[in-house]
Amino acid sequence: MPTPSKTHTPTRKKDNNVVEEQKISHYFGENVFGPEAQKQYLSKEAMKAIDDAVKNGKAISINEADHVAQGMQAWALAKGCTHYTHWFQPLRGTTAEKHDSFFEPVGQDTGVEKFSGKALVQQEPDASSFPSGGIRNTFEARGYTAWDPSSPAFIMEKAGVKTLCIPTIFVSYTGEALDNKAPLLKANAFVRKAATEVARYFDSNVSDIMVSLGVEQEYFLVDAELFAQRPDLMLAGRTLVGSVPAKGQQLEDHYFGSIPNRVLAFMSDFEEKAHQLGIPLRTRHNEVAPGQFECAPQFEELNLAVDHNSLLMDVMESVAEEHGLKVLLHEKPFKGINGSGKHNNWSLITNTGVNVLSPGNSPEKNLQFLTFFINTIKAVYDHADLLRASIATAANDHRLGANEAPPAIVSVFVGDLLEHVLADFEGTTTGKSKAKKSGASIKVPNIPEILLDNTDRNRTSPFAFTGNKFEFRAVGSSDNCASSMTVLNTIVGNQLVEFKKQVDTLKASKKGSKTEDVIKEVLRSYLKDSKKVLFGGNGYSQDWVKEARKRGLNNIKNTPEALEAYLSKSAADLFVRNGIFNHKELEARTEIKFESYVLRLQIEGRVLNELVQNFIIPSAASYLKKLADSVQTLLNIGQSKSSVKAQLDIISQLSQSINAIYNSNNAMTNERSKANKIEDAHKRAIAYCQKVKPLFDDIREHADKLEQLIDDAEWPLPKYRELLFNR
Ligand code: ADP
Ligand code: MG
Repeated sequence: MPTPSKTHTPTRKKDNNVVEEQKISHYFGENVFGPEAQKQYLSKEAMKAIDDAVKNGKAISINEADHVAQGMQAWALAKGCTHYTHWFQPLRGTTAEKHDSFFEPVGQDTGVEKFSGKALVQQEPDASSFPSGGIRNTFEARGYTAWDPSSPAFIMEKAGVKTLCIPTIFVSYTGEALDNKAPLLKANAFVRKAATEVARYFDSNVSDIMVSLGVEQEYFLVDAELFAQRPDLMLAGRTLVGSVPAKGQQLEDHYFGSIPNRVLAFMSDFEEKAHQLGIPLRTRHNEVAPGQFECAPQFEELNLAVDHNSLLMDVMESVAEEHGLKVLLHEKPFKGINGSGKHNNWSLITNTGVNVLSPGNSPEKNLQFLTFFINTIKAVYDHADLLRASIATAANDHRLGANEAPPAIVSVFVGDLLEHVLADFEGTTTGKSKAKKSGASIKVPNIPEILLDNTDRNRTSPFAFTGNKFEFRAVGSSDNCASSMTVLNTIVGNQLVEFKKQVDTLKASKKGSKTEDVIKEVLRSYLKDSKKVLFGGNGYSQDWVKEARKRGLNNIKNTPEALEAYLSKSAADLFVRNGIFNHKELEARTEIKFESYVLRLQIEGRVLNELVQNFIIPSAASYLKKLADSVQTLLNIGQSKSSVKAQLDIISQLSQSINAIYNSNNAMTNERSKANKIEDAHKRAIAYCQKVKPLFDDIREHADKLEQLIDDAEWPLPKYRELLFNR
């Protein structure tokens, strides 16, 4: 049934009644081939096949796939699609698509629309230019995309063109994963199974566990025309020069402030598109920095949430274009101004509807909660370096460990109350938890009593427990969440498997012991070491850096060093043993990460070189000449030397900075070419980090000085003031 195509204007009618079509509930998911559309277009058997694949991981037969393809095509054609694409998430970041037409000519002037089960299930994009870390030699450049039925197909509309998109994984001819999704699905299934078995200690009715994820997404918006005048934003995603404006975020007047009109119009449009795609967006607000915003969906099953986040970034960029805006997803687009992240809210929910990370009113008595809570803490403590590696990118280095949220030291915040509960549980403190539950009554007349959270807030923690979920806040804003979620699921899954083994063994060795007591004993033994990772103070303080060192927690500040965690034997054991990556996949992935670190910095170096040579030095020199002419003129008409003193002083400052910037730029180019000659990707990354990158800062220091010295009208680049405050 073709749905009439609608244009949803978010404006209300004059009489203040929202017409039916304008309600989000009316158009939510209309561009998704989800259960509602399937009911219309698929047979019961075909629907059941999809359901079985989603719930039980059962493979769909080619015959069933043919049926699904028929229905999916009918739906897509009715909605105005001409093409379809396998939509996947290659290792270079963002998403990839290659459109094929449904249309097949049969005669000179006749044709039909066709879509087979085979085309739905598998495609072979000629994709030798996607990064594979050496897995796929170009001479056998075969890569296959394979349908992931657990994430529904959707219709992407851009510039009025509608395309059916089919979520897929991307694997090589030899079966190795070449994308972000394949290992995520494996890690997801792994933790699901491990968590289910542990949950069954507490309720034998549990037969499955869903991993839930809600991704808060931060981003900047800048005017598209100003953006186009900044080669650094265009090519590197961040400003490589630019002096901090007189007013930045010090007044904290932007956070939760009223949303500028132009931005609100964008948000409303982009949310509408997202809602049509079934992305359950619910929250929007200004962030801390000027020009920075955030949106958040309601949490969903993890694989879907990761797909939705990738899709969301795509939709955002496309809708922004229609509003003359540019979305900056880079982790640190502006120096001296907060960067952006993605808070990954993660939890485990049983098929009986219980969130096992929900402490309830008496966490101290809730052994199921304590089990999952402590096991997660232990997993983070044991594998902190892997978590750190999972979010390591050149861009995220500007946040982590750079006096910026959050710190590079991986610690866990659980709040006062739960820290006390854990201490009581371990037996290191006696008596009842000292911390009060739910902050005192608010005692404001006319205001009803509200429910205050059991966990207070700590914005400086990279991994925080917030009420009934853990929130991994160190994930970069431009990242695909799959990398960090694959690691988190793997380490927690691995920990739960270990836990179950230990409990069962201990129970068998102690005749007549109660399972509950054995569980407590094992959990207590975990806390002994793992509690070192708990930290509730200010994560940005120097004291914490010292304290963390004392506790033996690592503080890894850059990507090349962070990625070494993937090269360790223990990481290989962990991933290989649990079937997430084989050795080859792990090595290839790490290689790609080293390479993309280098490529990012290489691009930045080149852009910086261009900025220096073609923008900054010419402008500074022309201003210098202006001043020199002015001095000359004044002297010619008989002014004294002291009357031109200020101008001479500026001339000398300009000359100094021009020379300094020129020299640093040459040194940087030189270091780059030296680094480029290094064969080994790991060592090349280290050279870029240690030799090339510091020179960026030298160049910037002088570029920013020049910006402050020369005539505003002559500065060749839009300034921070314009980029951040232009509404
Ligand atoms: P904030 O952390 O900014 O206060 P919220 O508490 O509203 O935000 O939640 C942020 C995100 O966490 C939302 O996407 C929300 O759906 C998600 N979330 C809430 N509960 C869970 C859960 N049990 N599992 C995963 N995500 C959750
Ligand atoms: Mg949050």
